[in-house]
Amino acid sequence: YISVKNLKKKHGDLDVLCGIDLEVTPGELTVLIGPSGCGKSTLLRCLNGLETLDSGSIVINGVALERSENTKSNMRDFDKKARAIRENVGMVFQSFNLFPHLTLLENITKAPVVVKKMNVDMARKRAKELLIKVGLERHADHYPCQLSGGQQQRAAIARALAMSPKAILYDEPTSALDPDLVHEVLQVMRTLDDEGMTQIVVTHEMRFARDVADHIVHMQEGRIVEMGTPEEIFSSPKDERTRRFLRNFL
Ligand code: ATP
Ligand code: MG
Repeated sequence: YISVKNLKKKHGDLDVLCGIDLEVTPGELTVLIGPSGCGKSTLLRCLNGLETLDSGSIVINGVALERSENTKSNMRDFDKKARAIRENVGMVFQSFNLFPHLTLLENITKAPVVVKKMNVDMARKRAKELLIKVGLERHADHYPCQLSGGQQQRAAIARALAMSPKAILYDEPTSALDPDLVHEVLQVMRTLDDEGMTQIVVTHEMRFARDVADHIVHMQEGRIVEMGTPEEIFSSPKDERTRRFLRNFL
């Protein structure tokens, strides 16, 4: 369960998030849309404990992140909570971010072994299952550079899944891919949705958003201007800014 209340975040003098309120129900897929610079990546980074907050709160799976005075012991406390959140929330980036010097199998087993102290044989067994799940069983011993972008991104999703996360956040997971490779990555996310994974996806793939999302959240200038079901957002948007934004995608 993810709950965001009145989240504010500045970068320098710039108000990047100006009071975000968001509830995400387990098992749902939420798509985050909005123009460049509106704060989508920053919001995901906050949800993954990669940014400190200026005010408001984020509660994920019972762990609460809040603003705190910038003292050493507070920062240590924040880091501890942020790490706890990252153990339960996977993140997938536009640029795949696999470890280039490790094979896929090593990429996928690393965090469970190092962070969760999982037994190596067990981690390898689980990694092989995950590679099957994302259709990469033949590539276990290949290095990221030997794979297509779509394959690398599917491996990145398998790597996130290896930590048995409660939720996965994706920041434009298909934006760096050739058009013909986009589908295979979206398909993995669709399968995870069918299996009940909680997912938040920043994407410009509007057809995917319409077909798969449970909720669409439209942000502009650090605020949520409208949220609703795909039906509500695409067929009868209430906010003029949503209408204008979506016109760019027709
Ligand atoms: P895009 O669609 O282009 O990825 P976005 O919605 O993800 O955009 P963010 O990356 O969250 O937007 O950035 C929001 C604003 O915050 C932008 O104006 C950006 O320049 C600024 N910003 C983001 N990160 C930093 C940072 N580390 N330092 C200073 N400014 C930042
Ligand atoms: Mg971004």
